[in-house]
Amino acid sequence: MAQLDDLPPLREVIATHDLRARKSMGQNFLLDLNLTARIARCSGVVEGAHVLEVGPGPGGLTRALLAEGAAKVLAIEKDARCLPALAEITAAYPGRLEVIEGDALDVDVAAHLRAPWRVVANLPYNVGTELLVRWLTPPSWPPPWESLTLMFQKEVAQRIVAAPGSKAYGRLAVLAQWRSDAQIVMTLPPEAFAPPPKVHSAVVHLSALPAPRFPADAKMLERVVAKGFNQRRKMLRAALKGLAPDIEDRLREAGLSPTDRAEVVPLEGWCALARVLG
Ligand code: SAM
Repeated sequence: MAQLDDLPPLREVIATHDLRARKSMGQNFLLDLNLTARIARCSGVVEGAHVLEVGPGPGGLTRALLAEGAAKVLAIEKDARCLPALAEITAAYPGRLEVIEGDALDVDVAAHLRAPWRVVANLPYNVGTELLVRWLTPPSWPPPWESLTLMFQKEVAQRIVAAPGSKAYGRLAVLAQWRSDAQIVMTLPPEAFAPPPKVHSAVVHLSALPAPRFPADAKMLERVVAKGFNQRRKMLRAALKGLAPDIEDRLREAGLSPTDRAEVVPLEGWCALARVLG
């Protein structure tokens, strides 16, 4: 590929700063700058964009985002060992990279970025789903982000884009697809990472819709869906029993069959039920 920047190759960065990957930090680094450039391009980051990156590590994806023209990248990294490597990137792109040492679950991003920002991350698997659920359930909609481009374990990625009737279909699919377009844009084998994880990975791109696909109260929808899928092998009338004394009538009112199971209920059906119960 054409050289991304004048910074050293990632293997050299890792050796210079002695960044031996730590399992406890969910560290599986991408070392191929062609791959990080592809992820950055899939993310839709263009000249002038504001971007949040969680877990930059040695900075392969960070460099690709800056090379794509991001005006500002806010990178939140928990492992202090990565900071000297990231400081070299800050120096190469003056005024465009802000690094915060800390836990992404604790940082108030709004104070550092201009909305709407894009989120791009090769996520630590241990916090990936929690961060996704937080991004999908902000206090109001549209959210402060316009897209999320996130690396997940392939099975988790499949749960986000799953259609009704499939085993992977559940709470994550409903939450994600209710208010965004979600697609798998890349799959990566374990060998793409150092060290290679045990599982395949996939990049999911979610773009926020201006408004939900179907009306529903967000809190009620979350409640109904969580309860429905908590006992996914039960019929809806049993799985949702505690939600209303006359749950069978409510299900029918929402156009659902009380003897169906959660995994066949389409998004529209969950929203109708949330409205009936709201
Ligand atoms: N982005 C780099 C890459 O693609 O090579 C590293 C990805 S690695 C899978 C995950 C990164 O997230 C590591 O650098 C790890 O230290 C960092 N990390 C783990 N938990 C974190 C947390 N709670 N908040 C912020 N960063 C975290």
